[in-house]
Amino acid sequence: MPLVTSKEMLLKAQQGGYAVGAFNAENMEMVKAIIQAAEELKAPVMIQTTPSTIKYGTLETYQAIVAAEAAKASVPVCLHLDHGSSFDLAMKALKAGYTSVMIDGSKLEYEGNIEVSKKVADVAASMGIPCEAELGKVGGKEDDLVAVADTNTDPREAREFVERTGVTSLAVAIGTAHGFYVGTPVLDKERLSEIREVVDIPLVLHGASGLSDEDVMDCVKRGICKVNFATELRAAYSKAVRETLEDEKVFDPKAYGKAGIAAVRELVMARMKVCGCDGKAE
Ligand SMILES: [Zn+2]
Repeated sequence: MPLVTSKEMLLKAQQGGYAVGAFNAENMEMVKAIIQAAEELKAPVMIQTTPSTIKYGTLETYQAIVAAEAAKASVPVCLHLDHGSSFDLAMKALKAGYTSVMIDGSKLEYEGNIEVSKKVADVAASMGIPCEAELGKVGGKEDDLVAVADTNTDPREAREFVERTGVTSLAVAIGTAHGFYVGTPVLDKERLSEIREVVDIPLVLHGASGLSDEDVMDCVKRGICKVNFATELRAAYSKAVRETLEDEKVFDPKAYGKAGIAAVRELVMARMKVCGCDGKAE
């Protein structure tokens, strides 16, 4: 089917008490793997690209690949801009046919974050496209391998932020970080529950690579409706490719591409089950 927006799938997740998995793709193989996993489990799915991925392959190219693969799929697929770094990039993503955008103003001070998030949310809303924003800093750096966690989304600020910006989902900082964790992450789940009590839009958990299944499930129970997985997919893909290439007779990119697809598909299926979105596209 054609690409769908994230609006309905996230609201359904919120009502149903599960989360939609949002998976970062870097290439055609990863897109195929993610959609195959979604089809296999009959799960709604979000595929997302970061600014560095877009710089590598361009918005138009990823949009064309994801739209072509989604068209053949029987489950809803949404293409999301992850960590949109500026108003300009968010506008380009909308123009290129992305069906969901994030504007990440979390590096700005509070008022600056409100300003840019509202600006993007307003334009997106006029096009019927949902807009995710981030309040408080999720630790680490997207595209970096090592993460340092941060816990600082204030529940009262979160409520005001959502009211003033009109964003349709909110990424919260409760102790997760991008990249792989050094040691065991300590999540502030009470804070998550407090935010849930005063904010009524779907909440998003970033930095889930390397979290235990129990932690992810507990966060979903406390109101997370979208969980992002990036680093571990990149790692699984590269490990499978590397292993295949150990055989020096392998020269066909299709051979190691297939290995990468299989590894990512397995991992995505496992994460979907933890999120509870399997079977939800039926
Ligand atoms: Zn993130």
